[in-house]
Amino acid sequence: MSNPNPRPNPRSVPPRRSLRTLLPYLLLFAVIGVVIWLAFFTGNAKTQALLQTELAAYLQTNAGVIDTITIVTTETTTKITGILKDGSKFTALVDRTFYENILQPTLFAADGTALVDFKMVIVNAYQRTFWNTIGPSLLYLVLFVVAMIFLYSRMAGAVSSSNTKAMEFNRSRARLETKVKKTFDDVAGADAEKQEMMEIVDYLRNPKKYTKFGAKLPKGVLLVGPPGTGKTLLAKAVAGEANVPFYSISGSDFVEMFVGVGAGRVRDMFQQAKKTAPCLIFIDELDAVGRQRGAGLGGGNDEREQTLNQLLIEMDGFSDNSGIIVLAATNRDDVLDPALLRAGRFDRKITVSLPDRAGRTAIFGVHARGKIIDESIDFDAISRRTVGFSGADIESVLNDAAILAIRDNADKIMLRHIDEAIDRRIAGPARTSRQLNEHERKVIAYHEAGHAVVGLNHPFSDKVQKITIIPRGQTGGHVLMTPEEDRFLMTKNQLIARIVGYLGGRTSEEVFFDDVSTGAQNDIEVATRIARLMVTEFGMSDLGPIQYERDTGSVFLGRDYTSSQKNFSQQVALEIDKEVRKIIEQAHDKAREIIEKHKDDVILIAETLLDRETITAEQIDRLLKDRKLDEPKQAVIGEVVLTEKPKVEPTPTPVPEDDKK
Ligand code: ADP
Ligand code: MG
Ligand code: ZN
Repeated sequence: MSNPNPRPNPRSVPPRRSLRTLLPYLLLFAVIGVVIWLAFFTGNAKTQALLQTELAAYLQTNAGVIDTITIVTTETTTKITGILKDGSKFTALVDRTFYENILQPTLFAADGTALVDFKMVIVNAYQRTFWNTIGPSLLYLVLFVVAMIFLYSRMAGAVSSSNTKAMEFNRSRARLETKVKKTFDDVAGADAEKQEMMEIVDYLRNPKKYTKFGAKLPKGVLLVGPPGTGKTLLAKAVAGEANVPFYSISGSDFVEMFVGVGAGRVRDMFQQAKKTAPCLIFIDELDAVGRQRGAGLGGGNDEREQTLNQLLIEMDGFSDNSGIIVLAATNRDDVLDPALLRAGRFDRKITVSLPDRAGRTAIFGVHARGKIIDESIDFDAISRRTVGFSGADIESVLNDAAILAIRDNADKIMLRHIDEAIDRRIAGPARTSRQLNEHERKVIAYHEAGHAVVGLNHPFSDKVQKITIIPRGQTGGHVLMTPEEDRFLMTKNQLIARIVGYLGGRTSEEVFFDDVSTGAQNDIEVATRIARLMVTEFGMSDLGPIQYERDTGSVFLGRDYTSSQKNFSQQVALEIDKEVRKIIEQAHDKAREIIEKHKDDVILIAETLLDRETITAEQIDRLLKDRKLDEPKQAVIGEVVLTEKPKVEPTPTPVPEDDKK
């Protein structure tokens, strides 16, 4: 498993570094120490060391040439050092009795006056003894200790400083905004998402209302969607609309430093939040902490697990109506730990998808506010060319266009600036989704229209709610179908209708393009699974009501490692495969029959999809009745309502003629 944020381990690198930088200092201290030691304990090379017995004779013979002698007396010994006039030195260590009985009477008279004519330095014996004997070592020791402290502080630098930092930041790193300015007006196009959020806004505005009626709201709401689709923006807008404090923290902030810190941060953040309830906690990049625990072989990341556990504890810990709502955003809800998604935690999921054409027009409108833009620019036409652009992409397109206009010395943003910015965005590396070519879009539109037409015409099918060709993740588009009413059981006919529906996409490709694409992979997978279940578990085939397989996912090994338990022989395996194939083939034929019969509808829906990207159930009804959808595409932009304009060729921007002579 690869580490999601490869960054050097803060604990291992700094010590090595500081050891290297400290080496010169260490050497310096060593040298100083040695020099001091030498200075105190050894004389220079010319010093003549005399024995006690030699000293008296030496003094007598050299009396004339002695310049100075220094007498250092201790309790038991006396050290005599002398300098001769030629600079050479002598030294002798004598015992105290020798000094007092023999040397002193020779050098001094009884009244203390000197009997010799050279300088004599008598040193305060006791003090000097201390410095003489212990001093150098002590000095050296002190230097050494200083060096060690220095070294230690450097070595431990990273560790201790991040320790203190850890202590500071255990106090969660959540950023708190008390006055959030963003409102739903700033979030364009995402009407369904805003609708879902409205309830939360209402709750945060007045939690008491809900407490009174004993109504419960989800504590945690998960926003799932590709990057740049406005998840963060939407969360902020909720806080702004409800006018409550907004704590935001990113999942990667939790996992930053030491073991235990992430967990501590979670704790502190919730503690802080409780004091200011009602409030909104927003955890961005939830997948950074919330990845499945113990996933992957070789163990997980302890720190992340602790943080995740703490998050789970905190979410369980606050009561249903404490006025705290936790919003989290991720673009990978498939990797999240299932424990996070359990009831009482992030049990509500809102999918934030890439904007469709009308959505993009509206987002262009939002970000055009406050910019000076040529009025003749038709944002609807522009959004036609920006399939797959996220809100963030659109924002940056308009920003780039503004910069291009400035560079151009234009007095407003012209169409060419926007075009140029779009081209850059498409070519640039930062595109959040890949750009489909026209043919791919067409294949996807016909594929989805195929699903829809089967859904509309098969008597046992679920109801088609929405068709879209806006790419999401690996799929180019999808058809949302839901049962007419809640149901508990599914009949054989309904299961078959599902299989037929799943095969409708592929079949439509066959009918209209005489070729098939990989886009049907998931459809085929699901269709096969349903067919297999019908044969082996539901007893809905000619093999009769016998259970041939049972799912025995082991709790310990994880589902991936165990296969389902087989209760049949090779012979029966063959028959099962035959039955599965029969179901699939019949469904395929049925799909083909429906599509061939309603070819016109498929074309109509597909072409409308190419134009609008998303069609809702009501729109489909009208489309099939009127054979066209001519309600104006409109997108509300602040106060201004943009409706589709009559098609006019965009007038080329006039080149100033004045300059020409
Ligand atoms: P996400 O959190 O989903 O990655 P963000 O909320 O950070 O995306 O969006 C980045 C920016 O893109 C926002 O600050 C906003 O300016 C712009 N944006 C995204 N979606 C929309 C939208 N629906 N309406 C207006 N602006 C949007
Ligand atoms: Mg974000
Ligand atoms: Zn499909």
